[in-house]
Amino acid sequence: MGGQHRIAVIAGDGIGQEVVPEGLRALEMAAKRFDIDLAFTEFDWGCGHYERHGRMMPEDGIDRLASFDAIFLGAVGWPTVPDHVSLWGLLIPIRRRFEQYVNLRPVRLFEGVPCPLAGKKPGDIDFLIVRENVEGEYSEIGGRLYAGTEREMAVQESIFTRFGVDRILRYAFELARSRPKRHLTSATKSNGIIHTMPFWDERVKAMATAYPDVRLDQYHIDILTAHFVRCPERFDVVVGSNLFGDILSDLGPAVTGTIGIAPSANLNPERRWPSMFEPVHGSAPDIAGQGIANPIGQIWSGAMLLDHLGYPEAGAAIVAAIERILKSGRVLTRDMGGSASTEEQGKAIAAEIG
Ligand code: ATP
Ligand code: MG
Repeated sequence: MGGQHRIAVIAGDGIGQEVVPEGLRALEMAAKRFDIDLAFTEFDWGCGHYERHGRMMPEDGIDRLASFDAIFLGAVGWPTVPDHVSLWGLLIPIRRRFEQYVNLRPVRLFEGVPCPLAGKKPGDIDFLIVRENVEGEYSEIGGRLYAGTEREMAVQESIFTRFGVDRILRYAFELARSRPKRHLTSATKSNGIIHTMPFWDERVKAMATAYPDVRLDQYHIDILTAHFVRCPERFDVVVGSNLFGDILSDLGPAVTGTIGIAPSANLNPERRWPSMFEPVHGSAPDIAGQGIANPIGQIWSGAMLLDHLGYPEAGAAIVAAIERILKSGRVLTRDMGGSASTEEQGKAIAAEIG
């Protein structure tokens, strides 16, 4: 804490270009109010860079990021570039090289945002998803056999190491312990996926002995998704593998009204390397360039960045500003039933912080 904090900014593609300026506006306002020294350096990496140079970022891109205190990312991906190229050319290398093994995604229903679930009040939905972010189902191991023949097949391996599973579970148990409800839910599918998932379940049971004060539930992913929709008030901290965590963290925001408000933190909890903060949503080509994207996911990600740098009051001030703007029903973007532009909503939130 204290001193100057260097933040690498990658706005990326599509609506990333529109929401990142609003995220920066909020960060600058909070920095001013709480006297925090933030220095931003922008990088024009992403699909545009790919089209110009054949790479999502320069060859030494990762090395250049290594000395920053945090990375503030918009979105990467564009229809003209294959998904695996944009993902594996920027996002995944950053997560892996910087050991950002925790992907933390808060899910919260705010007053003023229409909830698609009947009868849910703000306060009913307020939980955290902890996604394992560097191993599991998202591996490069596998391939095709007998390509182009009748016997053609694809094989994909998942990697679950004891080290990797234990460190994400420890993070999740500690997080659950720090919250009033002290409740952890773990997602697997051990009846269908019979090697990796029972291993995860076993590690959960083993670790639970060190956390007798944390109430534990273990569900299969299929029934868990049903519970997310039927009784989201049941959850406090939810931990899952890379794939299951990814799915749950799209579903979570969907039940709170819009994916546009959902933030995420890719954390290296040991702070050996920079952590990265980005909204849950992608580049949204269908609405890009129109100035109508909801900037709250980006702004809230900025609040998580400040938390991580050691300024929880500044982070909380941003979240409180979001809360007040949503509650007031003024300046809502289209996805929340209003007609405000990205910039109008961003400016209203920034003004509320200052
Ligand atoms: P990715 O593959 O990167 O996850 P995606 O193709 O799954 O991206 P998104 O880009 O997240 O999808 O968009 C999903 C839908 O949500 C789109 O219809 C998009 O318009 C909408 N959406 C996403 N983000 C926002 C936002 N900030 N404000 C309003 N609508 C949004
Ligand atoms: Mg998606």
